[in-house]
Amino acid sequence: MPVFIVMLGAPGAGKGTQAKMLSRRVGLPHVSSGDLFRENIKNQTELGKLASSYIEAGDLVPDNVTIAMVQDRLSREDCVKGAILDGFPRTTAQAEALDETLDEMGFEIGLVPFIQVPNQVLMERLTGRWTCREHGHVFHTLFNPPAQPGICDHDGSELYQRPDDSPETVANRIKVYFEQTAPLIDYYRQNGVLVEIDGDREIEDVNQALMDILPTVD
Ligand code: ADP
Ligand code: ADP
Repeated sequence: MPVFIVMLGAPGAGKGTQAKMLSRRVGLPHVSSGDLFRENIKNQTELGKLASSYIEAGDLVPDNVTIAMVQDRLSREDCVKGAILDGFPRTTAQAEALDETLDEMGFEIGLVPFIQVPNQVLMERLTGRWTCREHGHVFHTLFNPPAQPGICDHDGSELYQRPDDSPETVANRIKVYFEQTAPLIDYYRQNGVLVEIDGDREIEDVNQALMDILPTVD
């Protein structure tokens, strides 16, 4: 049975970091809506053009285009065994659409780790984040520095600071998270798939806690 995992948590909680580690460890694709948008922006697609103003402002891209983009990604061959979703869903409408999509495929969400970090930590994590151009690997100036400044440890590509990681935009993204995404905590708790994870500790320790609760992947 395929395993679909939804990483839930505020911007900066560590969803991308953990999703990438889990993906390497269990061999499921990492499906990040933010990475998909950034790829579209880099390739100057119509979707990228549409999404960029929302992303720059730290607002959510409208549900219809976001849902269509992720549905398309999940229909690809490499998702037959499941996927680790990161950054999607972010609204109740997206969560309902995801349930329907998986239901049509005969699948369901197996686990929703909710990574919890105190609010004051989010800002320092995001404003110190450096992201790699090639595959979206993330580092942190203080908490997870690359071996060589400005260069990705994993693929050698350039590291940059995302424009939406500026303090002003981060403040809006955190506000948007509490208004539009936090209701998903209860949504998934009621579905019985939510597991709370303390994200305010070493990256490796958070990863171990996640590995401990992961369903078996064939
Ligand atoms: P999200 O995807 O939830 O926005 P990221 O995984 O990109 O979060 O992490 C945000 C920033 O915090 C990155 O710079 C990352 O290196 C750093 N980070 C991630 N997990 C931890 C942790 N457990 N402790 C300290 N810093 C972390
Ligand atoms: P974070 O590190 O905060 O988790 P992401 O890379 O996931 O950031 O997302 C960056 C931006 O892309 C968001 O602020 C939003 O504008 C847009 N975005 C990503 N995922 C979604 C989504 N599921 N719905 C709407 N907008 C999204």
